Amino acid sequence: MKPFDYLSPTDAADAVRSVAEDPAAVFLGGGTNLVDHLKLGVVEPGLLVGVTRSLPNTIEEIGDGALGIGAGVSNSELAADPRVRERFPMLSQALLSGASPQLRNMATVGGNPLQRTRCVYFQDVTTPCNKREPGSGCSAIGGWTRDHAILGASEHCIAVHPSDMAVAMAALEARVRVLGPRGERTIAFVDLHRLPGDTPERDTVLEHGELITAIDLPAQPIARRSAYRKVRDRASYAFALVSVAAALDVVDGVVVDARIAFGGVAHAPWRAYRAEEVLRGSAAVEGSYRAAADAELAAARPAEGLDGGNAFKVPLLRRTLTATLRDLAREDTR
Ligand SMILES: Cc1cc2nc3c(=O)[nH]c(=O)nc-3n(C[C@H](O)[C@H](O)[C@H](O)COP(=O)(O)OP(=O)(O)OC[C@H]3O[C@@H](n4cnc5c(N)ncnc54)[C@H](O)[C@@H]3O)c2cc1C
Ligand code: SF4
Repeated sequence: MKPFDYLSPTDAADAVRSVAEDPAAVFLGGGTNLVDHLKLGVVEPGLLVGVTRSLPNTIEEIGDGALGIGAGVSNSELAADPRVRERFPMLSQALLSGASPQLRNMATVGGNPLQRTRCVYFQDVTTPCNKREPGSGCSAIGGWTRDHAILGASEHCIAVHPSDMAVAMAALEARVRVLGPRGERTIAFVDLHRLPGDTPERDTVLEHGELITAIDLPAQPIARRSAYRKVRDRASYAFALVSVAAALDVVDGVVVDARIAFGGVAHAPWRAYRAEEVLRGSAAVEGSYRAAADAELAAARPAEGLDGGNAFKVPLLRRTLTATLRDLAREDTR
């Protein structure tokens, strides 16, 4: 591992300044993703700026049923919070479906959405990878693609974003509070992550030195009836092949409203606006759920690959969405 310096300021503005002034500096949250990358040589920063001492670590009521979650809150604390479990069950379930209890104790709300892709070529520094080394090529295209994107990919990168928490945050219309060298700004969670386009090395819209300080969850009455369903190779301790975060409001057998996002299928948490549109006003029946899935998946472009490719994700996601909506509608008979 390349030697690096380490700072651990108690003030967020100091942390921002230290990173902003040094192109080779990075923030360190719980370290559960970044330290792995240091060991693998995927990133080689000259300075690590620990932020857990300077970030808020409380979950606060910020008015009208909204919650403000400090970026220093651990994934375990957020999942266990009684208000999150009651008002936003999909978020609690998403967090608990990720990693292991030990990792969730270390992982932070700020670091989780910024974890890097699990593409095996990104993590193997002996292979070309446009995300790790821009312009070097994409080893996944025509290689091992089972875990890769079916939506929104480009000819430069077909990686998926791995966070479960982020999928729920996208469906819940969360907002990200950011402190940067030029002050504060707020970003809609759905706009935080980027599709790869021709600059796949940029996962998000954050600029160098911008620190996530909190994530705000606006009141979403619909989210009280919500769920996160994750399909993976093992029952635990595995990333999603596909996942669905969904909330459904059904009145007299008709879908009044829906919030849906997908994980494991794109470079960003994928908000399924087309599916939501099809559902609104439709009968709460199996046919409507399949039609919603088909509307969203019309844009799917599976990758071929040495391992048989990932076309299986299309029917898998269709079935996962349908089953999730069916279960929510069953609960939501009023
Ligand atoms: C074996 C294993 C299995 C896992 N399984 C899952 C899973 O199933 N689902 C899942 O979602 N995750 C999974 N994870 C990933 C884990 O959830 C993430 O590593 C963790 O959430 C990252 O948070 P962190 O605070 O440790 O971030 P760090 O590792 O500290 O940082 C990650 C990135 O975010 C940046 N950063 C950190 N904090 C901030 C901030 N406040 N503002 C700006 N930048 C910041 C860092 O510079 C770095 O680039 C797994 C990890 C491991 C090791
Ligand atoms: S899919 Fe993206 S991350 Fe994976 S090798 Fe290609 S460019 Fe790199």
